[in-house]
Amino acid sequence: MELRTKLLIGGEWVAGSSRFQTLNPATEETIAEVEEAGAGEVDLAVRSAREAFESPKWRHMDPHRRAALLWTLADLVERNAEFIAATETRDNGKPLFESSKVDIPFVVANLRYFAGWADKLTGDVIPVSGGFLNYTLREPIGVIGAIVPWNFPLNIASWKLAPALACGNAVILKPAEQTPLTALLLGELALEAGFPPGILNVIPGRGPITGQALVEHPDVDKICFTGSTSTGRLVMRTAAEGPKKVSLELGGKSPNVVFADADLDAAVRGALTGIFYGKGEVCAAGSRLLVERSVHDELVEKLASKASSMSVGDPTDPKTRIGALVSAEQRDKVLGYIEAGHQDGAKLVAGGNQADVNGRGYFVEATVFDAVDSSMRIAREEIFGPVLATLTFDGLEDAVDIANRTIYGLAAGVWTRDVGKAHRFARDVQAGTVWVNTYNRYDPASPFGGFKQSGFGRDLGEIALQEYTQTKSVWVALD
Ligand code: NDP
Repeated sequence: MELRTKLLIGGEWVAGSSRFQTLNPATEETIAEVEEAGAGEVDLAVRSAREAFESPKWRHMDPHRRAALLWTLADLVERNAEFIAATETRDNGKPLFESSKVDIPFVVANLRYFAGWADKLTGDVIPVSGGFLNYTLREPIGVIGAIVPWNFPLNIASWKLAPALACGNAVILKPAEQTPLTALLLGELALEAGFPPGILNVIPGRGPITGQALVEHPDVDKICFTGSTSTGRLVMRTAAEGPKKVSLELGGKSPNVVFADADLDAAVRGALTGIFYGKGEVCAAGSRLLVERSVHDELVEKLASKASSMSVGDPTDPKTRIGALVSAEQRDKVLGYIEAGHQDGAKLVAGGNQADVNGRGYFVEATVFDAVDSSMRIAREEIFGPVLATLTFDGLEDAVDIANRTIYGLAAGVWTRDVGKAHRFARDVQAGTVWVNTYNRYDPASPFGGFKQSGFGRDLGEIALQEYTQTKSVWVALD
């Protein structure tokens, strides 16, 4: 494969109305100049998607054939995984270890999982009163605009487009301006797999230009969005004009809770992956570590020592576990929060600085603050970087209370050997995903999404099919 830089619309590679550069955040070098879709190209993409969606070739395609297309796409991604993973690492700064061992394999598994659903979308027969047969059909929604972020560029794109295509929709994918390259590769592979032209369109561009035009477009039926809560709010407000359907997966400030009876070494490992996997640029990052008072000192000491020895470095080195933050803007935001931690009186126990990797790139050390309380900015706001805020609690009730003291509700972790306590915590915490004695586990079959201001709608799992189908009720008079 080779890098693609044009827009994929209606099965053709076309020029945009302007261009933007995408950088390698580990070297600050330009990787490519990418075409940007302006309002005109967005309109063209929507018209192509509509035409492809309405075409009998797609509408009346046998479901098992749609399944086969998705399966072929999965095979093609797998065959080209090395190049795709390397491109993701260059564009995003994430360690090659993550893109090659986790992100791209997940894309493959996810495409296969939803391929399996394409021919299993059944309706119901409803026992209505009177002499009627009533049944439901599950039909595709139409043209889906998928707006995705830069932290898991191809992975999250697949969370939207795999179920959308399995259900028979047409998709317009708008990747983040920081990381447009793997979405374009996926577009190329979708054409090669045999999806009809226009069923998957890929239109890079900046949010306020391309994204906004997509959300505003009257002929887009639904927007599926993952990103910040503030942009999600704007997307929803704009979509209200349609009104068009929206599902939103937004930010988080997830609690990772360690009880005194936990396996502390496992909890330390879980705390580290919880916050430092993906450089902390993870919506479900366990960015608040809640530790029961009696084990606080021991746990924080172990944690600080391990965090201080984590390898921040060249993302292409297979040993690197923390790569470059995605942009200078993101690095500055993270450093700003480290400063806020100091100002608000938290105690720095690991990291706290930019990391020097060959004198360039946007690297920040694995950072741990202790003595944090829920009023501090580093405990309330989504940092989206390798910065952990440690808080102390006394007992289950206090843990739940502190865990829920946030506007967000995306995920939570709990570490304990007491089964009852684990389940009581899982019941009482306000979060869309709860991990018990583990953290950051995902599977295409398990739903993911938020409570509270972390959004609504669900990615992954059977439930995601609801986001991409609408129900039709059919009445048949029998007499
Ligand atoms: P955004 O939420 O702005 O970006 C997410 C996606 O929305 C991108 O594709 C972006 O495009 C697009 N977008 C931006 N503005 C609009 C708009 N007006 N209409 C339609 N689409 C739009 O996140 P940022 O990249 O600005 O990151 C800022 C912060 O958001 C991060 O520091 C982090 O805290 C949080 N975030 C949370 C994520 C999550 O998974 N929950 C993911 C990413 C960020 P483009 O990038 O091209 O501007």
